[in-house]
Amino acid sequence: MPANLPTVLVVDDDRVNRMVMAELLRDECRLILAKDGPSALQRMRDEDVSLVLLDVSMPGMDGYEVLAQIKADKRTSDVGVIFITGHTDEADEERGLLLGAADYVSKPIHPAIVRARIKVHLKLAMQRRQLERLSMQDGLTGIANRRRFDEALDLACRHAARAGEPIGLALFDVDHFKQYNDCYGHGAGDEALRQVAGVLASYVGRPYDVAARYGGEEFVLLLPAPANFELLLERLREEIISLKIPHARSEAATVLTISGGALVARLVEPAVPAALLERADILLYSAKSAGRNRIMTETVSLSLAHSI
Ligand code: GH3
Ligand code: MG
Ligand code: MG
Repeated sequence: MPANLPTVLVVDDDRVNRMVMAELLRDECRLILAKDGPSALQRMRDEDVSLVLLDVSMPGMDGYEVLAQIKADKRTSDVGVIFITGHTDEADEERGLLLGAADYVSKPIHPAIVRARIKVHLKLAMQRRQLERLSMQDGLTGIANRRRFDEALDLACRHAARAGEPIGLALFDVDHFKQYNDCYGHGAGDEALRQVAGVLASYVGRPYDVAARYGGEEFVLLLPAPANFELLLERLREEIISLKIPHARSEAATVLTISGGALVARLVEPAVPAALLERADILLYSAKSAGRNRIMTETVSLSLAHSI
């Protein structure tokens, strides 16, 4: 079975019903079966579920309650839910749809129709996922975009204050890039940005690390709790030089270079992410003024109350 098949969760207290659905969907998806509401909710938190087929009448927690909880949890609220039920009452159907069910299928089921409907919902789920991914990605370089970075920085600030861990944040800007474009053309400029992004991306390894294109020829690197950030950034700067992208019109070197402003920030309490970026930008500006092709790093403590 291909690994990229979507995952469907079937929730039904009746074992036979679970087996019927499993048999029906065998070739369309990876299946998870749950026999009651609480275990279904747990599986949804643990696994990457694309669609839920939910029985309405179950002992203990009924389908409506399960749906309400799915919708109330930010981690699961976007997952499509289809009610599979013996209730044929219009009022029941309306209730389910109003609660946010994507569809309603009555028992006894007509296998071919149910399979076709589920395929439609799976396709929608896959398209939504693809859109989500694209909305977080920079079109030119393929690395994270500013939107994704802003979200990650926000999360990192809150986590860092709670865990008492520092944040490593670096803002980079390609040196004399306007001249590069003027000399080698916009297409070559685009290719250079892709190569710079590739180097940055190779510094991202842990789950909360992010390398992003911040805009134009500016990039950011976010490494929560970094080990020896300054040294790492120095290596990164040298790696950009090692790309050996000729830049005849640069005053900083004979090849393309970057400048950077970086912080190792200890957050005494949750800080405004914008304050970190502002500080990094000031340091970047000093790196430019000092001759470019260098990274200015500073260690700071900051909080919401006390700006840096
Ligand atoms: P400095 O060393 O002070 O940063 O000088 P600079 O020339 O790099 O800075 P400036 O801000 O004057 O110019 C940035 C240039 O980056 C201008 C713009 O055309 C170019 N640029 C921004 N986005 C893209 C892009 O997506 N592709 C290409 N090829 N060029 C871009
Ligand atoms: Mg710039
Ligand atoms: Mg520049």
